Amino acid sequence: MRTQVLPVTEESIALAARLLNQGELVALPTETVYGIAADARNGAAVRKIFEAKGRPQDNPLIVHIYGMEMLHGIVTQVPVRARKLAEAFWPGPLTMVMPRGPEVSDVTCAGLDTVGVRMPSHPVVQAVIQASGVAFAAPSANLSGKPSPTNAQDTLADMDGRLPLILDGGESNVGVESTVLSVVGEHPMLLRPGYITKEQMEAVLGEEVLVSPAILEKLKEGEIARSPGMKYKHYAPKAQVTIVQGSFDAYRRYVQAHAGEGVWALCFDGEGARLPVPSIEYGKNHDGVTQAHHLFTALRDLDRNGAQIVYARCPEQDGVSMAVYNRLIRAAAFRVVTA
Ligand code: AMP
Ligand code: MG
Repeated sequence: MRTQVLPVTEESIALAARLLNQGELVALPTETVYGIAADARNGAAVRKIFEAKGRPQDNPLIVHIYGMEMLHGIVTQVPVRARKLAEAFWPGPLTMVMPRGPEVSDVTCAGLDTVGVRMPSHPVVQAVIQASGVAFAAPSANLSGKPSPTNAQDTLADMDGRLPLILDGGESNVGVESTVLSVVGEHPMLLRPGYITKEQMEAVLGEEVLVSPAILEKLKEGEIARSPGMKYKHYAPKAQVTIVQGSFDAYRRYVQAHAGEGVWALCFDGEGARLPVPSIEYGKNHDGVTQAHHLFTALRDLDRNGAQIVYARCPEQDGVSMAVYNRLIRAAAFRVVTA
């Protein structure tokens, strides 16, 4: 299959809409990362997403809508908490897990009786949903296990020959995938941290948001993942990544002691020049927003430079940094050391 990369125009949006209605795949920019879209109602179309990505069949997809009316048929009920959070954060990078409606294919939800739904703020996604009338399932546009792409070039690197169209809408602003919150249980539960933070949602809900244990630690043997995606190694470059906790000075000494052929540093802005090995910088220290924006490109840059072993500076664990830490520990296959 030939993969076309087209700039965003009225014609390319119309083509994307046509492809979606024909049960084909379209890769497109969202405010979080680039996604691969298919009609969420059409099981055969959604199956193509799993094939293109090599994604495990038991990992459900998020359904993207535009306008609250589109929830009809997608969910059976909009819990009160979901209404409040939608008012505060939609359109935006928040996914809510709700009771699944009759129109969503089994394939989209990996057979679960719940569905993750989000209303994106990116104008290109909104235009494609409006032009097609299709609520689409869309995971990140990477090969399963690799870092998510935040631009059309990285999307093409993974998806060339696997789908007919990539819409090039420039760099994704947020840089990490949406926050995923379950609102079906007794208490709201964070399943994946993102740009919309636990603290922000608690302020709107006026109650505590529980944090699923799998977010910041490895699941124990036999433990059940509430969000199936959490159990997989993910976001990983080819290099072996280790997170190094501690001050910059402790980190620098650690890297010094482990320097050698193929060893790279993944550090914060302005630190690279003071390190004894080559480095990629991924945002400002103490600033989860800039780290989220740069993380996935930085991981791909390490591969492009042939890095074999990577020592990464450790992000904080609250606010948007929780999302960065969550992605980085998976990229590091949970290898964390204290310097
Ligand atoms: P991705 O499509 O790569 O952005 O990943 C979507 C994430 O949302 C995965 O971690 C899924 O496990 C999670 N997710 C999607 N739908 C559900 C659901 N119905 N229940 C729990 N988690 C979900
Ligand atoms: Mg993904």
